[in-house]
Parts: sequence; structure tokens; C-alpha cells
Amino acid sequence: GERLRGKSAFVTAAGQGIGRAIALAFVSEGGRVVATDRDADKLSGLEGCETRALDVLDDAAFARAVAEAGALDVMVNCAGIVHQNTALTCTDAEWELAFALNCRATWKGMAAVLPGMVERGRGAVVNIASAAGWAKAAPNRFTYAATKAAVVGMTKAAAVDVVAQGVRLNCICPGTVDTPSLGERIAANAAAAGGMEAARGAFVARQAMGRLGSAEEIAALAVYLASDESAFVTGQAIVIDGGWTL
Ligand code: NAD
Repeated sequence: GERLRGKSAFVTAAGQGIGRAIALAFVSEGGRVVATDRDADKLSGLEGCETRALDVLDDAAFARAVAEAGALDVMVNCAGIVHQNTALTCTDAEWELAFALNCRATWKGMAAVLPGMVERGRGAVVNIASAAGWAKAAPNRFTYAATKAAVVGMTKAAAVDVVAQGVRLNCICPGTVDTPSLGERIAANAAAAGGMEAARGAFVARQAMGRLGSAEEIAALAVYLASDESAFVTGQAIVIDGGWTL
């Protein structure tokens, strides 16, 4: 396709899962893509992308990578971490890392691209939030819910500040998506659930459609939000969850 022809995009956490699928979908729609991840090994095989190791917790490195990417039309803030905790089990370290990665780095990503987008009078930011926290409570997701609901608030707040200057910001709120880190959460729950199959089954069972989402399905929404097809959409939190929140 050609839906992103002529657009330059920057994607964080593009090494695996949703970020990787977004980077590849953007390339397949004719976009130029700078695909980044903390783990450089995971960037291999990203055909058609410019790749670069980047830990988004490093403010200076993040700002430098964005500056060196040149004029950007699209920014995807995808890096995030899922802790399994409650208000009672959450540690200070979990709280701090979750807010640093899910919220603070998303802010830094927005701050790095918005001046250039405002100057050029165009641009689209796509933040990856979650249905959890914003649209629905999920058990054992205390810091995750807090940080992802904050991403929705940050997206809306930033969107209203640049809405008159031609720049749009939206966030995607996925339900349960089959990615490598979901595999880790399934493994972590296996003992309590009575095995890997049962633990996976519990994640599938909460999906009204009876299946997990694919990273490619999330990427299709990101293509829409990055492209001019969504020119009238800003400040929105779009749930894509197989009916989880129905
Ligand atoms: P994942 O968790 O499997 O992979 C995360 C990627 O982020 C890895 O490649 C990792 O190397 C990278 N990363 C971690 N810390 C980083 C850092 N400091 N700097 C740069 N990169 C870093 O991927 P996923 O499950 O697709 O999740 C991606 C995003 O989607 C996250 O924000 C997550 O919260 C969100 N999300 C996922 C689901 C799901 O079910 N998988 C649902 C809703 C939202």
C-alpha cells in the first residue's frame, strides 16, 4: 500500500510485539521508518526500516535519536512494561519503573517531536496505552492501570494544546495481544493457574471473541492513526480489544 508514502516515522520498542508489527506495517504502506529498541539484537530482520538501539529511559539518547531521525511526520511511543501487582503488593521500584517507562518516556517522546511538527504544521503521534486502566479494570494490574490511564490523559492534554497547529495525538488501547511479553506473563501465572495451557486459557477466556488479538491487528489501527485518513481524529483513546470491554 501507499497510505504512508512520503511520511517519516519513529517507533520505540520496535524489536518485538506491537512495536515491531507497527514498524513493518508502516514500511509496507510506503513510509520511512526509524525502528528503535533498547535491545539491539531484536532489531534484526526489520526489512526496510532504519534501525537504531535506543533505551527510552535515557533522556539524552532519546532526544538525540529523534533529532538525528530528521523531520518526522509520525511518532509511535510503544515502550512499556506490565507489572503484576496490587495496591498492596506494589513495590516502590515497580511504581517508579512503570511511571518512568510508560509515562515519562512517552512524555519525552512527545516533547522531542512536537516542536518540529508544530513548526511544519503537521504530524501525528500515536501512543500505546491499554484498555486496562482506561476502559476496564484487570486483576493484578495496579501500576499498569495507573500508568496507562495516565497515558490517555497525557495524550488528550497534549492534543488540545496543539490541535490548532495541525498536529494530532491519539492513543491505542489494546486488549490482550499475543506478543512475547504476554508469553512471559502466561509463564509467570502458570503455577497458580495449573499449567501453561490453563494460564493461557485464562487470558483467552476473558476475550469476548474467544481469541487473543494479533500485533498486526493493532498495527492496522496505528497505520490509520498515522495516515491522513484520520485527519479529523485527535485526542482519542481507541479501544481495540476483541470485545473485552463489552
Ligand atoms: P513486548 O512487551 O513483548 O516487548 C516490549 C519491547 O520493548 C521489547 O522489544 C523490549 O526490548 C522493549 N523495551 C523495553 N524497555 C525498553 C526501553 N527502556 N527502551 C526501549 N525499548 C524497551 O511488547 P508488547 O506486548 O507488544 O507491548 C508493547 C506495548 O503495548 C507496551 O506499551 C504494552 O504496555 C502495550 N500493550 C500490550 C498489550 C498486550 O497484550 N501485549 C496490551 C495492551 C497494551
